[in-house]
Amino acid sequence: MILKILKRNCIEALVDLYPKEECEAFFYRLAEHILSMQRTDIALNGYVVVSGKKQEKFTEAIERLKTFEPIQYIIGSTAFFGLEFKVNTKVLIPRPETEELVDFIIKDSSVRATENPLRILDIGTGSGCISIALAKHLSKVNVFAVDVSEEALNLAKTNATLNDVDVRFLNVDILNDFTREDDFNELEFDVIVSNPPYVRESEKELMQPNVLNYEPHIALFVENNDPLLFYKAIIAFSQRFLAVKGILYFEINETLGKDMVKLLNDSGFGDIELKLDIFGKDRMIKA
Ligand code: GLN
Repeated sequence: MILKILKRNCIEALVDLYPKEECEAFFYRLAEHILSMQRTDIALNGYVVVSGKKQEKFTEAIERLKTFEPIQYIIGSTAFFGLEFKVNTKVLIPRPETEELVDFIIKDSSVRATENPLRILDIGTGSGCISIALAKHLSKVNVFAVDVSEEALNLAKTNATLNDVDVRFLNVDILNDFTREDDFNELEFDVIVSNPPYVRESEKELMQPNVLNYEPHIALFVENNDPLLFYKAIIAFSQRFLAVKGILYFEINETLGKDMVKLLNDSGFGDIELKLDIFGKDRMIKA
């Protein structure tokens, strides 16, 4: 079958389920992945013949897209902050909002290394996207990242290698054993960053099936229905492990900007800055 017809078939198979532009975008993502071709070449070479075996791969991927499985899981990778990251269902697919968080930190003039390397800790690292992007884009840093999931950490390690950066990964449950002395003994951080789970059970019905049915709930939802649970634990941790003049950066639930300001205030933090994402929603906070 020629590429042009494959494209038409792909779009036809999905157009009742997704907007047309998205179907087209899916086709290009799949073609890039399955045929190892550049996007422009795909667009310009409609008469290239696709082998039966490769056609089968398209069919298989299309069947998975029909169930609303995210294309990033089907392909097994995604782009984040100009870097490639492997992803699987054990980790959240990195979001554009989180790219904004990384951008916020990189552009922040307070985040400048002195003679000593800047010590950064990412809590709940998942795919490793935040810690790896920071390690890649900031000079002279010492980056640590923790997660409760061993499977996530394995993937994050792969991603650090793939992107050729040094990050120290540790298995830590911030809700329970953050005081494990030996892990953090003698350590102190200039920057602690986190995009913890912050979606409430009550917000479930607003979520799309591609998120709800495929992404790890452990990375999305807060237990006890206390949406600030993780922030409270991280703040408690930072009372001990954040350096004097150290900075906290969080991604937050858009409905909890004011509550986060209050929580940080009450915990003795100053210079609090709440920042909107590209959609105009309270999404990042610095203190
Ligand atoms: N913003 C993400 C979503 O709505 C949630 C990210 C998170 O819980 N940290 O899918």
